[in-house]
Amino acid sequence: MSMFKDIPVDVGVIYEGERIRRKQMQVELGGPSIKEKFELAKVKPLNEVEDGKITIIGPDIKDMKEGEAYPLGILVEVAGSTIDQQLEGVIERRIHGYMNFIEGFMHLNQRYDIWIRLGKKSFQKGLNSFTYIGKVLYKLFKSELSIIEKAQITFITDPEKVKELYPCALEDYEARDARARGLKDEEVDKFYGCVLCQSFAPSHVCVITPQRYSNCGAISWFDGRASAQVDPKGPVFAIERGELVDAEKGEYSGVNEIVKKKSLGDVNRVWLYTAFDYPHTSCGCFEAVAFYIPEVDGFGLVNRSFKGVTVNGLPFSTLADSTAGGRQVDGFHGISIEYMRSPKFLEADGGWNRVVWVPKEVKERVKDFIPKEVVDKVATEEDAQNIDSLKAFLKEKDHPVVARWTAETAVEEAVSAEAIAEEGAMIPVVSAANLPITAGGFKIILKDAKIYAKKVIIRSMKDNKKAKG
Ligand code: SF4
Repeated sequence: MSMFKDIPVDVGVIYEGERIRRKQMQVELGGPSIKEKFELAKVKPLNEVEDGKITIIGPDIKDMKEGEAYPLGILVEVAGSTIDQQLEGVIERRIHGYMNFIEGFMHLNQRYDIWIRLGKKSFQKGLNSFTYIGKVLYKLFKSELSIIEKAQITFITDPEKVKELYPCALEDYEARDARARGLKDEEVDKFYGCVLCQSFAPSHVCVITPQRYSNCGAISWFDGRASAQVDPKGPVFAIERGELVDAEKGEYSGVNEIVKKKSLGDVNRVWLYTAFDYPHTSCGCFEAVAFYIPEVDGFGLVNRSFKGVTVNGLPFSTLADSTAGGRQVDGFHGISIEYMRSPKFLEADGGWNRVVWVPKEVKERVKDFIPKEVVDKVATEEDAQNIDSLKAFLKEKDHPVVARWTAETAVEEAVSAEAIAEEGAMIPVVSAANLPITAGGFKIILKDAKIYAKKVIIRSMKDNKKAKG
């Protein structure tokens, strides 16, 4: 793009989705090893923004040691006679998309979770200053969103300054989220969709409703509406809700139609308020994962910044890998923290009555939104570190899932007794998430397969040979 001729590397959509591995990276900014990091957009009066100004507070990229990670705060301040504060969330989320246009530059996540890597090759080509990154952001903001009349961008790498501004950024996010609370899904006739993350997860479509915040936790229904209005050709679009097919599970005909279209037929059906069967897809930048724990018939929740292993022995990264990629994975669900505060949170699965384990930090953040009768019954890493101690904790507290254990055992016993009684009943002989079969030069993959047989014959290969001979 000629507008980027003063930038030492290429800039364009083809670089979206580019991954920079640890070995290829020059520096890391934010990310899991850095506690305080953020990106924030603010709408300001016209006279408080100096158009095109780029400021760096702290060491610049060229002053950073190769292979090291550093704190980073990104502040994008914009002004315009028709811009209002409601657009802050939308403008802020564009930072993710625009930074990923830069060759050899990777931006993941959002808000207080940002994780950025600059590749060695791009650094060697001369991308050694935040000034270049700021210029790209500035040019894209001005050219893509015409309502922005002025923009100034500040990069903060001084650890003390990042630390000082971090709580202010958290306050801003909370105020934004609080403004979006209260409206119900039933009260609107439009939802909003977002496909910004398709560069990383091609079949992913976020469906943003008043009571189901986007997976990344950065776009509310109000943000979606504002974005679709100012940039109707952008990644955020309106969804006509259509017919309510299932109120409990959250199935709408309009959602099914648009998801099918935008995922190019990969996803045909979405149930918004459940993690089972047809859950909302999960891209990769969700703030947290809800994961089903079959041993207790309940859900664990884990957020991105949780450092340890969860109660089932797996860390966030492994659970995130099982969830991400724009797929619908039964029992694994990428979600935002704000969605945990919603009355629609996993409503069809039992909501908070089905949640059995959550990191203490997350529980503290959403405590006021957990029903009073269950709040003390949800374990944290301090109460349970493995499934056995979790079971003991849930029993002791009489968590609502405990009642399901007895009910389910009774049903299972009744079903198996019935199966045995029924002459010739079929038993499952193979169950697998992916079952490949090779036949006639084709590989056929059966997903979530369960194969039933009336009779199972086990014959040794020697017998076979004998029989043939
Ligand atoms: S998580 Fe969803 S709403 Fe957020 S940027 Fe990605 S697609 Fe858009």
